[in-house]
Amino acid sequence: MRRAVCPGSFDPVTLGHIDIFQRAAAIFDELIVSVFFNPGKEKAMFSVEDRVEMLKKATAHIPNVKVTSFSGLLNEFCAREKVPFIVRGLRAFTDFEYEFQRALLIKSIDNNLETVFIMTNAKYSFVSSSGVRELATFGGCLKDLVPPCIEEHVSKHVSSKI
Ligand code: ADP
Repeated sequence: MRRAVCPGSFDPVTLGHIDIFQRAAAIFDELIVSVFFNPGKEKAMFSVEDRVEMLKKATAHIPNVKVTSFSGLLNEFCAREKVPFIVRGLRAFTDFEYEFQRALLIKSIDNNLETVFIMTNAKYSFVSSSGVRELATFGGCLKDLVPPCIEEHVSKHVSSKI
């Protein structure tokens, strides 16, 4: 059975992420989508529990996706879960530089781990969690950026903070 992990902040999950999950889930038998967090560094809009809940809702239509969270090093997660593939999405040149370094670092730690990149869908190439957070903070429309169930969740969250 071919298993892969798609790690990320997902703060919150966007249509760009969902597109990557759907395509990766068609390649692998099981895709673990995992919210990675560093307790010392986190300055997120949503709690890890909230992000996991949103991911579960937004991926309910993809049967071979499992959602978890993890605090620690990615290679440790992969060893623990016995997952040899890491899936990352790629948008622009700026993603490439970061992802290139990250993939090589992981490879230097564990040569058995392979990072697999899936190119963004042109429709979502401009979509980012940070853009969603910024728009949401100022009451902008999130319709084309996140799934409908997430749009509602984000709007409620933002209005509860005002
Ligand atoms: P991280 O903080 O680890 O970069 P993100 O939640 O921002 O986590 O992103 C998780 C993964 O999804 C990354 O590989 C990122 O490049 C990818 N990604 C984010 N937005 C998009 C998008 N619109 N299209 C394709 N891939 C994306």
